[in-house]
Amino acid sequence: DHGLGEADPEVRAIINKEKERQFKSLELIASENFTSRAVMEAVGSCLTNKYSEGLPGKRYYGGNEYIDELEILCQKRALAAFHLDENKWGVNVQPLSGSPANFEVYTAILNPHDRIMGLDLPHGGHLSHGFMTPKRRVSGTSIYFESMPYRLDESTGLVDYDMLEKTATLFRPKLIICGASAYPRDFDYPRMRKIADAVGAFLMMDMAHISGLVAASVVADPFEYCDIVTTTTHKSLRGPRGGMIFFKKDPVLGVDLESAINNAVFPGLQGGPHNHTIGGLAVCLQHAQSPEFKAYQNQVVSNCRALARRLVELGYTLVSGGSDNHLVLVDLRPLGIDGARVEKILDMASITLNKNSVPGDKSALVPGGIRIGSPAMTTRGFTEKEFTAIADFIHEGVQITIEAKGLASGSKVQEFLKFVSSPDFPLTDKVSN
Ligand code: PLP
Repeated sequence: DHGLGEADPEVRAIINKEKERQFKSLELIASENFTSRAVMEAVGSCLTNKYSEGLPGKRYYGGNEYIDELEILCQKRALAAFHLDENKWGVNVQPLSGSPANFEVYTAILNPHDRIMGLDLPHGGHLSHGFMTPKRRVSGTSIYFESMPYRLDESTGLVDYDMLEKTATLFRPKLIICGASAYPRDFDYPRMRKIADAVGAFLMMDMAHISGLVAASVVADPFEYCDIVTTTTHKSLRGPRGGMIFFKKDPVLGVDLESAINNAVFPGLQGGPHNHTIGGLAVCLQHAQSPEFKAYQNQVVSNCRALARRLVELGYTLVSGGSDNHLVLVDLRPLGIDGARVEKILDMASITLNKNSVPGDKSALVPGGIRIGSPAMTTRGFTEKEFTAIADFIHEGVQITIEAKGLASGSKVQEFLKFVSSPDFPLTDKVSN
C-alpha cells in the first residue's frame, strides 16, 4: 500500500497547498478551528472501512464488536463532557453533521407542516432553523415545516423576546429553536423555556457554535432548560466534522425522545455511521474534560473580548455592543462600505473571515457586516495582545477598502478630471493650443 504522496501526488499537492494556506493566514472564521493530530489520526484510520447500521448491540452487520465498544465510549464521553447524568440524558453520536442532526430532530418530533420558530438567518440564525424569503422556501426545513422566524430587536441587537412571545402565542409552534450562527450573546434560556411551556412547544438548542464553551462552562448551560440539544463537533469543540443530538430520557409532551430521535437518525435519514468520525469525536470529548480545554475556552472568550474592546476603541459599531462568547459581529454600514468588499481585501492580506448580514440589511448578497471569531487563532496560542493587534490589522483593511471603493467608483478620477479641465489648471491653455 502506498502513501498518498506516491499514490496520488496531485491530491497530495492540493492538500499541501491548503495546509500552507491554513497556517499562513489569520483564521478568524467563527465556525472553524484546528483539530488535534490525535483526532486526525483517528479520522484517518481503518474505522472508515466498517459498516455498522444500527446502534451498539443492535447492528445490521457482523464484525462490530470493536465499533460497538467505540460508540459506547464516545456516548459516555459525550455525556461526561457536558456534565450530564446518564439516567436523565441520552445522546446519538451518529449524525453526519449539524444540518442533518437538526433535520433528524424535526423528523423525530414533528409531522410534515407542523409549525416551528427559529432565529431568522439575516438576524444570525442558521439555514437549517427554517430560513425562507418572501419568494422562496430556501431551507428544506422551511419546505417540509411551516416556519415563522423570530428576530432581534434592531435597537439593541438582542433577541426580541417580547415579540417572540407575542408571535408564539398566535402562531403556536410545536418547536422553538434557540441557537445561532452569528449571535454574540447568550440566549435567555429561562425566558425561552417559559415561552415554550406557555404554548406547549418543545424547546431545542442548537449549540453548534458554542459547544466548546458550554462544555467548559464559560457560557450559560442550555441543558438546564432545553428538551433537546444538537451540535456540530468541529467548531469551538475542536473535534472532527460531525454532529450529535442530546435528548432527555423522560418523555416530553408524551413523546419518547430517545426512540424517536434514534429512529430518525437510522433508518429515518442516515445509513451507516461514519465510524472514523466517531473515533475522532471520542478523542475530542476526552480532551474536552481536561483542565487545558477549560483554560483554552476561557482564553477564547477573553481574546474575543479584547478584540471587541479594540474595535470599539477604533470607532466600530458592534451588533449588541460587544460579545459574551467567541464571536463579534461588526456593522460596517456607518462607514459606507459592506462586508463583501472587506472580506475580499482581507483575504488578499491573508486574513480569513466572512461577510455577514447584520440586522436591518437590505441585501443578503452584499451584507453590511463581518463576523470575526476567536477559536482557531486561540488554538494557535494567541492571547489578548495578539487579538488586539488583529483588530488593528482589520482596521487597516477596512481603511484600504474605503479608499479602494472611492477609487473604483470613479469619483476620484472624476474630481481629478474636473480639475484638469478647469481654468485653474496651469497646463490647460498649452494643451488646447
Ligand atoms: N447549526 C449552526 C448554529 C451552525 O452555525 C451550523 C453551521 O455553521 C450548522 C448548524 C450546520 O452545520 P453543518 O455545516 O455541519 O451542517
